[in-house]
Formats: sequence, structure tokens, C-alpha cells
Amino acid sequence: MEYSISTFEKLLQACSSENKKIYEIMQEKEAYDFEISVEEVRAKILKNINAMKEAIVSGLTSKEMSFSGLCGDDTNKLKEKYKKSPALFGNLFEKITTFALATIEENLRMNKIVACPTAGSCGIVPAVIIALAQEKDITEEDEINALITAGTIGYIISSKIAMAGAVAGCQAECGVASAMSAAAAVQLLGGSNEQIINGATLALKNILGLTCDPVGGLVEIPCVKRNAFLAVHAITATELVLANVESKIPPDEVIDAMVQTGQLMSPLLKETSMGGLATTKTGKAINKCLESKKQK
Ligand code: SF4
Repeated sequence: MEYSISTFEKLLQACSSENKKIYEIMQEKEAYDFEISVEEVRAKILKNINAMKEAIVSGLTSKEMSFSGLCGDDTNKLKEKYKKSPALFGNLFEKITTFALATIEENLRMNKIVACPTAGSCGIVPAVIIALAQEKDITEEDEINALITAGTIGYIISSKIAMAGAVAGCQAECGVASAMSAAAAVQLLGGSNEQIINGATLALKNILGLTCDPVGGLVEIPCVKRNAFLAVHAITATELVLANVESKIPPDEVIDAMVQTGQLMSPLLKETSMGGLATTKTGKAINKCLESKKQK
């Protein structure tokens, strides 16, 4: 079916006039746009879910450091910590934080990369969907519905702004991933279409202005740990909307604010590594070491 869903308002109108969930509208749109069946759309999504699971599984067992030697052992440290003392917030929190780190660490090892929406923010959506699915005994069909829901959020945001730290800072990478994850989580937990959009809105609204200032120009510091933080951020948004807490600023206006914030951000804080964490005393020292390592 042909749908125009360039805004959250239009998406909700389509859902309401067809009496359908967000994922149903989106899978029909995708099938129409790419001239394939809904079953084929869902098969493609399942392939992506399986790739996410592979990244998590191999990330949970690998201890290989990245080429820079800066990152690659955080998943293992967290796993060891949880063996000795469980997470304060329980099993779901343990899984979400370790899965997020496992996925992004696989990315920096150049192994399985599941850009979602970008490589630097790849751990957030997989962690939330797969951890929740495991903890709540959620079926594969529901995982597919959740990933389509997450993708719909990314699709609408990307119609307004490129999802890249170089364009709008990390709000456009990890921030968007967190919004996508909140939407997926609300879908998995049986929330309404309005709650799904509200979850994405709350997650994004509360991360506006996040800078992109990677040390040494590598997607490692602060990116790796940021994936764990923003996966948990998505769950905070999920809990709030399931309690019927609403964003007072409508979703499409939050996206406008994000676009404006990105435009107002200094280029020094948009993936140039010329400001923020990248130019701290330690950030510069790390960069210097990396430069001499490259020359050897
Ligand atoms: S800090 Fe920059 S490079 Fe790292 S994940 Fe965020 S947007 Fe990507």
C-alpha cells in the first residue's frame, strides 16, 4: 500500500485510519515501495535480527582489542562484575548493558557490523530488542515487529536530517538509536501507537545536543560506553510512557528542535575531533600515541 509517512503526525493518522499498528503500516509501505511481498520484507528484517544476535554472541565471548588497543575488553569486565555481584536493576539491565557493549565491540574489531542506524550506535537497538525478547519470552515474530517499529522511527527522523555525527552530533547517532530502541521496547511490551511514538520522543528529547567528539577520530572513545548508557536511557523512556507520562512537546517538533540544535552546534563538536573529549589533555595524548603507532 502506498503511504506517505514523512512525519509522526502522518504516521499516526495512517495507523488510525487503517486501524493498524505502526509495524503493519511500515511493512506494507516497504513492500509497496520495493515491489516485494510483506513476507519478503519480514524475511529481510529477520535476517537483520539474526545478524544482531550473531554480533552479540561473538561479542560476548571475544576479548580481542581494537587495532588502537584502546577498546575491546569492556564487555568482559562487565560480565566478570555481574558474576561476582548482580546488577542493581536485575537481569534485564545486565543483558542490555552487556549486549550493547558486545555489539559495539564487535564493530570496532571490524567483525559483524550491524549499523542501526549507524555503526557507532550499533549496540543500542540490538541490546534492547534481544535482551527484552530473552527476558520476556518474546517470539521471533514479535522481534520482527519491534525492529520494524524501530526502523520506522529512524525512517521518519532521516527524512529531516542525516543520521551522522558530522551533521548533527551524537544526538543524530546514539540519540536516534535510543529513540528507535524505546519505540521497539514499547511495541514489545504491548504499548499503543501513541505510546510508541511518545517513547521515541522522550528518549530523543532528553538527549538533544549530545556532542560527537571522538578521541583520535576513532569510533571508540566515547562511543563504546555511550552505547550501554543510551540503551538504558531507552528503557527509562519506555517505563515513563507505560506509566502514561507524555512529552509536552509533540514528536515532530522535537525532531525540528534536534535539527536546529544540530545546526547550532559548533563544527568542533561534530565528528571533527577538534573539541570536547578529543581535545582534553588525555584525548590529545592518546591521539599522539595513535599517530606514532600509525607511522610504525
Ligand atoms: S560520538 Fe560521534 S562517532 Fe561516536 S557514536 Fe557518537 S556520533 Fe558516532
